[in-house]
Amino acid sequence: MPADVRTRALGYLRTGATRVVHARSPKDGTPPHEVVATVQGHQRRHVVDFLDGAWSCTCQTPNCPHIFAVQLVTGHVTPTPNGTPS
Ligand SMILES: [Zn+2]
Repeated sequence: MPADVRTRALGYLRTGATRVVHARSPKDGTPPHEVVATVQGHQRRHVVDFLDGAWSCTCQTPNCPHIFAVQLVTGHVTPTPNGTPS
């Protein structure tokens, strides 16, 4: 994950731009296997979803920071390599 994508994703978390609309988790405590979320970008709102093991975002950008922000919120990835939020 490029550093600028990480920085942008953390920015979306800090500003409260990320909203999880729907999440369904298995009973074993692992991260949700079904997620729908919105991320308010600079110009428009993006919809991120995670279905059947695949992430997608309406911006359709490679290395999408919206998907990364939602992955952080839902526990699919940790904020930093050593696991501590910055
Ligand atoms: Zn996106």
